[in-house]
Order: sequence, then structure tokens, then C-alpha cells
Amino acid sequence: MWQADIETMGRGAIRALQEERFQNAWKHIWDNAPAQRKLLLDAGVEQNGIRSLDDVHTLPFTDKKAFTKHYPFGLFAVPQGDVVRLHSTSGTTSKPSMGGYTAGDMQHWKDLVARFCAMAGVTKNDTAHIAFGFGMFTGGFGLNYGLEHMGVRVLPMGSGQTEKQLMMMRDMGSTVLVATPSYALYLSEAVREAGVKGDLKLRVGLFGGEGHTPEMAAQIEESLGIVATSNYGLCELGGPGLSGECLERGGMHIAEDHYWCEIIDPDTGKVLPEGETGELVVTPLTREALPLIRYRTKDITKLTYEPCACGRTHARMSPTLGRSDDMLIIRGVNVFPSQIESVLIRQEHIGPHYMLLVRREGVMDTLEVQVELTDGSVLESFQLLEKIRETIREQIRNILGLTVKVTLVAPQTVERFMGKARRIIDERGK
Ligand code: ZN
Repeated sequence: MWQADIETMGRGAIRALQEERFQNAWKHIWDNAPAQRKLLLDAGVEQNGIRSLDDVHTLPFTDKKAFTKHYPFGLFAVPQGDVVRLHSTSGTTSKPSMGGYTAGDMQHWKDLVARFCAMAGVTKNDTAHIAFGFGMFTGGFGLNYGLEHMGVRVLPMGSGQTEKQLMMMRDMGSTVLVATPSYALYLSEAVREAGVKGDLKLRVGLFGGEGHTPEMAAQIEESLGIVATSNYGLCELGGPGLSGECLERGGMHIAEDHYWCEIIDPDTGKVLPEGETGELVVTPLTREALPLIRYRTKDITKLTYEPCACGRTHARMSPTLGRSDDMLIIRGVNVFPSQIESVLIRQEHIGPHYMLLVRREGVMDTLEVQVELTDGSVLESFQLLEKIRETIREQIRNILGLTVKVTLVAPQTVERFMGKARRIIDERGK
């Protein structure tokens, strides 16, 4: 373990540490973050109205809209002179959310990333191939800092140039692959086509930047011969390091000494009891540049505080089912792309590449699932095609209670993604 004394703390000691750190974070916001102070005052909250973490559930949320409204640095709690690093979200639909770090935040970041890398079995004797994008995205630099901090040999490859990636992976003897699950899948396909699996020394995958189903992880594991682990974080909350998976694979341990987590009903905002699935809401406890109160992540998950066989005592969050933003509502049914993915990925003759097309025909919403065959010759057998289509349709109907259209397409015709996948085309309202 990277920080065994903290990672195995008793639950009571974790709570006491969280309480102490929350008091500091709360005071820091009132003293140094005027825009956040105003948000609290406008909501009728007074500084001395909150005594402990037990009262946090009464506080208003912070969300992405607050970042947009106070773009770029309005939510910050330190002078810009104390900020040593800026990162941002991609901001495809609005202004990006700016994330910032003081020198102290950077120290914590390194340790938090090192913590989940060690959980996945990475040691200083490994060589890590980072195929995350470098740049404003927190993933590339975050993993770079954490791995280097552990003494791991790091290759900051970035994304793209797949042939060169394979060459370097082979020639450098890379043992750890850092990527989005979508890109890992793409790389695994390239490895298969080039027939170089036997030349690679990969053994661990550290996957983040987007969610993925256990079925997809299994597929990547098989084709690359690795153990795939997930990690999680958001730019607004300090990037990767919020949580990561240990080798017991029973969910991602949350760095509870740095983050206070709640699960809410995304519709009502009410806190849900332990074990129920809802939206993750996070209050960071140690961030200097950008402390926040109850940040809504939009990620759907659940928490468990049960002890883990690895010996770590920190709570675990289940792999995110998807972002509430990605959830499609089709004829009144809530649909997460991950639910469809879990059906597709266990079929024979079908590859893990798919697109979801949502349309409105008259007043009816329709969902078409386009999925790629692994073997083009199947296209010649009408009976087999029909059987595959019917199986997928039936299984999706069982899970979602929704009838969808299934289209099987030729191998290599569905778009591949170097970074985060964009598998939904929603043509309603256009
Ligand atoms: Zn564990």
C-alpha cells in the first residue's frame, strides 16, 4: 500500500479526520471564496449554522452551472499567484470548468494517484505507457505525476498514432497501460491485427476518464493479457485520485480522508441510504485552490462501507453506471448506454463497437442499436443474422422493457475513439 497508515485506518478514525478537515475547508470557503460564500448566504446558510459533517446534507449543491457562471476563476479560494497549475474540462457545449491546484494540492494529487496505482499492483519496477491525452485534461498529467512519484518508469505517449504506440509498448517493455477503456479496446484490436500480443509484457491496465462495463473490461483483459482496473476523478474535484480499484475488484476505494461523499436521488436531491444507487455528490476536504460544497458529479453509482478483503478500510463506489447526462429517456424508460453495452458484449459474432441512434418518428421515440459483426461472412447467412438480431432484441427487452431496432453492420465500420467514446447520436429535437 502507498499510504498504509491512512488506507487501513479504523472507521472511527477516518470519521474524526474527515470532521477535522471539513471544519478547515468550511472556514476556508467562508474566509477566502467570496462567490461561494455568496451562494451559501443566498441559500440562507450561515457559517455557524453548520456544526459538523452531519449537517452537510442540508447545504445547497454546487454544480457545473456554477463553474460556467463564475468562469474562469470565480469559485477559487486562493489568489491566482498561489495557483501553480490549471486544468479544464473539454467544454464541448459551454465554457469549460477550470480546475486549479496550489503547490500543496499538487502534493496531495501525486499521493492520491500513487495510492490507486499501488492498489492495482503497480510497483516501482514497472514501466507505464500513458496513452491518455496530455494537455488540459487531468488524466495524462495526473497519472504521470503519481506514477513518477512511485518511481515507476513513465512513457508519456499521449493518444493517437496507434502503430507507434504498439512499437514503443513492445520496445520499451511496457508493463502498465494507462488509457480510456475505449482507447484500450482500440489498441487491443490493433494488437490482435498486428499479431504482437506475444511480444508485449503488459500486465496491468489503469483505466479512467470514462466509465465502462465489467464485460468490456473482461474483453480488454483477454485480448491484452492484463488485469484491468478502474479509477475515477473529475477535473472540478482535482482530477484522477478520488477513487480507484484494488485487486479484489469489488468497487473503487474512495480517498475518504480527502473527499466526503454522498449519494442522492438525482431528481429530488434527497440523500439516499447506504447501498442505494444514485448520483455521487462530493465535498472535497483538503483542496486549497478550489474547495467546494456538495459538488454534483452527475455520475450514477452506489457506495459500500463493508470491509474489503484487501485490508483497506475506505468506502468503495461501484463502477459508474453512466453519467446522468448520458442517460437517455426513451418512451419514458431510463436507458444507460452501459446497460446496452453489457448485453452486446456477451454475444457471439458481435464486436464491442456500437452506436446508439435515437430518433423521433411522429410522437414515438425509437432507439436503433448499431453493432459491428466480428466476422463479415456472417452477413451471408440470413438465418444467422436474424437469430443474432432477435437474441439481442430479446435480451435488451428483458433488461429495459423496451423494444429496440438492432442493425448489424460489417466489421470495421463503426467509429473508433482515441479518447472518450461518443456512442450516442440523438436526433430528437433537431
Ligand atoms: Zn480493496
